[in-house]
Amino acid sequence: MEDNKLREQDFLVASISQLSISGSSSPPVVARFRSDSLLFGAESDSSDSVQFDLSNCQLFKLGPFQSLCISDASEINKEKSYSRGITIQFRNEEESRAFHCAFEQWKKEVVVQGSSLPNGTLSSSGSKFDDKIEASSAKMYFHYYGQLLHQQNMLQDYVRTGTYYAAVLENRVDFIDRVVVDVGAGSGILSLFAAQAGAKHVYAVEASEMADYARKLIAGNPLLSERITVIKGKVEDIELPEKADILISEPMGTLLVNERMLESYIIARDRFLVPNGKMFPTMGRIHMAPFSDEYLYIEIANKALFWQQQNYYGVNLTPLHGTAFQGYFSQPVVDAFDPRLLVAPAISHVIDFTSAKEEELYEIDIPLRFISSVGTRIHGLACWFDVLFNGSTVQRWLTTAPGAPTTHWYQLRCVLSQPIYVMPGQEITGRLHMVAHKAQSYTLYLTLSAKMWGPGAEQGGILQSSSGKLDLKEPYYRMSQPQAYPMSQDQPSQQLLQTQDLQIQSQDEEGSDLLQQTV
Ligand code: SAH
Repeated sequence: MEDNKLREQDFLVASISQLSISGSSSPPVVARFRSDSLLFGAESDSSDSVQFDLSNCQLFKLGPFQSLCISDASEINKEKSYSRGITIQFRNEEESRAFHCAFEQWKKEVVVQGSSLPNGTLSSSGSKFDDKIEASSAKMYFHYYGQLLHQQNMLQDYVRTGTYYAAVLENRVDFIDRVVVDVGAGSGILSLFAAQAGAKHVYAVEASEMADYARKLIAGNPLLSERITVIKGKVEDIELPEKADILISEPMGTLLVNERMLESYIIARDRFLVPNGKMFPTMGRIHMAPFSDEYLYIEIANKALFWQQQNYYGVNLTPLHGTAFQGYFSQPVVDAFDPRLLVAPAISHVIDFTSAKEEELYEIDIPLRFISSVGTRIHGLACWFDVLFNGSTVQRWLTTAPGAPTTHWYQLRCVLSQPIYVMPGQEITGRLHMVAHKAQSYTLYLTLSAKMWGPGAEQGGILQSSSGKLDLKEPYYRMSQPQAYPMSQDQPSQQLLQTQDLQIQSQDEEGSDLLQQTV
């Protein structure tokens, strides 16, 4: 992505005074960050400057406008230098904060560049993010989020943004006088909400070019802007001058985990949150249920029909039919479907953001077990998610369930190339195995099985089993299709689920417990 290397940076400060020497430099003073050192001196004249080696100096806050910079004793040019220090008087709190942020950033840069691994090789990147994500994927990802139109798309998802707004403003007690970190701030909207709720200070961390627009947007809201600092960089790499009491973030992708940003949210927790600090959202759940959708199945299977032609301008295309057929089924389908297509109560997998380890998201293995409500052909597994804001005053859920108001995440369906047949009350077992990959997404391995039924099935207990491998990074957006299925649609699953209709109506802020059964 962008060049992480820091360029030169200057700060105007009110004055400095040296601890060892009496008297202070006459203001104004410029504090200059230059490669591996920090220099304090008069604006025009650099001959009389005080210099600190960034690799061995430390900065402490003495008060809102005053800080202390000291360096350790070290041996430079074989001459022993003694530890020294200066106090810095800032012109205001905001400039003090900006200086502290820059100091942390510069110090980190110096330490990373100077550090070597035990075997003597330099760390390739020094960044947890860069070590695990392909550069080309990250570049496209942050380019996408750097564009205002995509931020607008999220802002215009009123279910999403409205739920965040309500969750923050109904839980003012969690924000008043607290330090907040907004993980992946985008346009800065959640930072502005947190400031509205009375936050003492918000650090809005954003890695894409959107950080510059967020600065502009925040500056245009002067009542809130003095309590928000935008920091451009990845949460994995940046440094903050203080710990946060609460994290706020919108790290969810399709199926909750797509984009692998939950890992960044967890890293931010470990790096910046005080012990037992709050997280908004607090936890997330992936919900899954088998579905029956003959039209969808046929639509996908038919896409590969092209390759069944034996005389395409005199060419036999059939050798590639099998590959094309599998290829279409490897795309998870993203659209809003009618919950009546579900053929069994859903189960869920919980991820507690306050306690999960980052590595736990590298591989997620979910055993599946359902009891079919009807006799039907099952075409695959439908998935959606919700997240909880566990506020001190109000608990709020943001749900993307079918039947609930549609969000820009819609729902996700993994369609199997081989449907399975079930009787009412029959058990369906299987597994959803999700393996993270370097392109910020997951490979999904899905298996669904049911005992054979019909004449002769009693004796054998033979399993019908169907498996698929799908790439969450390559979804099929099926938005041009009708968003909800008409009642008249003649599908086996239509006869079912009077009971499930009732269950869907219970999908309110309190959660969707009737729909879920945990295995
Ligand atoms: N908080 C905003 C934007 C959410 S989209 C809102 O709710 O509207 C997620 C944002 O996180 C994107 O702008 C993306 O660039 C940013 N992001 C993703 N991973 C990040 C990381 N590791 N460090 C910093 N920002 C990140």
